[in-house]
Amino acid sequence: MSECIFCRIAAGDLPARLLRDEPDLVAIADLHPQAPTHVLVLPRAHWTSLDAVPPQETPALGRLLAVCRDLARELELGDGYRVVVNTGPAGGQTVDHLHLHLLGGRPMAWPPG
Ligand code: AMP
Ligand code: ZN
Repeated sequence: MSECIFCRIAAGDLPARLLRDEPDLVAIADLHPQAPTHVLVLPRAHWTSLDAVPPQETPALGRLLAVCRDLARELELGDGYRVVVNTGPAGGQTVDHLHLHLLGGRPMAWPPG
């Protein structure tokens, strides 16, 4: 069994609140939400970070982003929202499986911490 928690969630081996369950990706509620809406969109493929996505898989990145947009509409984040991809240790990444954070439901400060 994979030791990657997001691979295990995508496989149904770990519980999560699923907002999308698609052949190529899943969307889940973040366990420690940083905003009233905090969703993670993750590919089923185990790519350790944005930096590790093979060049031939670049179209998958557009698909992940489009799903964030669609979820933002469904979740009625019409006032605005933020999509974040923490990448690498200095980028604040703590789970080494590519994921996009969709955050909304409150005003977002700039610059981020
Ligand atoms: P990052 O720091 O960008 O790698 O984001 C990892 C995110 O995964 C954090 O926001 C965590 O709260 C979230 N997280 C960690 N474990 C789980 C889990 N089992 N289910 C849902 N979200 C999780
Ligand atoms: Zn994984």
